[in-house]
Amino acid sequence: MDVSQRVVSRNCPHCNASAQASDVLPYGNEEWPMVQCSSCKFVYLKRAPVYERLSEEFAWEKTSTQEREAREQREPVKQGLSRAFKHFRQKVLKRNKLPELIAKYIPGGHVLDIGCAGGGLLAALPAQYTPHGIEVSKALAEQANAVVAPRGGSIMHDNALNGIARLPADHYAGVLMSAFLEHEVEPLGLLQGVCRVLKPGGVVIIKVPNYGSWNRKIRQEKWCGFRLPDHVNYFTPGDLEDMVTRAGLKVVQFGLADRQPTSDNMWIVAAR
Ligand SMILES: [Zn+2]
Repeated sequence: MDVSQRVVSRNCPHCNASAQASDVLPYGNEEWPMVQCSSCKFVYLKRAPVYERLSEEFAWEKTSTQEREAREQREPVKQGLSRAFKHFRQKVLKRNKLPELIAKYIPGGHVLDIGCAGGGLLAALPAQYTPHGIEVSKALAEQANAVVAPRGGSIMHDNALNGIARLPADHYAGVLMSAFLEHEVEPLGLLQGVCRVLKPGGVVIIKVPNYGSWNRKIRQEKWCGFRLPDHVNYFTPGDLEDMVTRAGLKVVQFGLADRQPTSDNMWIVAAR
């Protein structure tokens, strides 16, 4: 198939200004140009793979392995250290932020994981939660379904935007988007969908790479947050807060500790 039929051209996903007026950044390439909106300064891929292509060719379970192998070949010592440090933080210091935030803000009930992969996170949710998910990869959606079905949950095999439109309004106590929003071609539309399906007072917990991090500024194109073409949005803390608010949500936690410039990622909790 002609490549031009398998990509979508995007305007700024943050303010909808034309991509024609944007500035090209040195982090993309000819096939996947990365630009900065001249109006609102949001950074994004000007073209993105169509959903059907993501479902197969760029499915997460394939690209994440390929990406890790490629990085290890380029920088074996750095990658080894980085993995050891992550392991140290998670296992030794037992600092795993997502379970802490879930326990703090979602007392129980229906929880939706957008981009739930094989259901690993949903499987780890304590018994007071009924786990649900949306997953674009067919193989992973089937795997996740086997995990959640015995607990009364369900998985929708669809892309996030279509999937959330098919879910009931005012239904979920919590929505999780861990390392997802950077992949979404229409992130504002997805956040509006999240706002619709949350119960009043329900919260969404979002983790995305922090384009404003010091590591991105120091490592430039070698920054681990750059992944072409599957990361199509690059948020600074200000962008993330603005977009969440524009979608109709209220920020309930986004302190300095959630968006440290020394971390490659940031976290925001917002309520309907
Ligand atoms: Zn813009």
